[in-house]
Amino acid sequence: MILGILGGIGSGKSTVTRMFADLGAKTLDADTIAHELIEREDTKSTLRQWWGDEILSEDGTVDRTKIAERVFSDAEELVRLEKLLHPEVRARIEEKISEFKDNNGKFLVLDVPLLASSTLRDFCDEILFVNSTEALRETRVKVRGWSPDELKRREANQAPEDNKKILANSVINNSGSLDETRQQVEDLYESLLAIDFTERE
Ligand code: ADP
Repeated sequence: MILGILGGIGSGKSTVTRMFADLGAKTLDADTIAHELIEREDTKSTLRQWWGDEILSEDGTVDRTKIAERVFSDAEELVRLEKLLHPEVRARIEEKISEFKDNNGKFLVLDVPLLASSTLRDFCDEILFVNSTEALRETRVKVRGWSPDELKRREANQAPEDNKKILANSVINNSGSLDETRQQVEDLYESLLAIDFTERE
């Protein structure tokens, strides 16, 4: 079965994804794939042509904070970056989904931030919404150095929370402790494994 994860930024999608992994699920994380892609020489060279060497850190890797500063203050630059990265990220995800299916995988979790507005959703048997209050999300992303305004700016580029909720058929409440969340993840994992998705439609 393939489970897609939706939720606001800082809601706990990565945390929940890791908990599924602890239980034995395979996971696919679009951010990690995008980060790998950004360091590929061809991508890096395109980014340098666009924005100059100032987007590089001292060790020669791409400084993602600089990239974020550019694209989140200029919608056109964001579109340009997305056009460069998204097709490749998507191709990579599709490839990994195929591998999972070929190997008769049991449980795959897709942590793809833009899943709500992507046809990758069609690959999912179930969509989970990770729910946390806005106040908690603001506190939790502070460790990334993001202010509430930065959070809002980034969220403006994603589907609104309510749209994500509507798309989901399960919800995990992550406004409590990690233990409480883990319990919900375990329950959901068991109940989803018991469903024969080939028969559901
Ligand atoms: P997302 O992937 O949705 O952006 P994360 O899973 O990265 O969110 O969570 C954001 C931050 O909040 C992380 O630092 C994470 O460790 C922390 N966090 C997530 N869930 C909880 C929780 N239930 N209690 C305390 N901290 C949490």
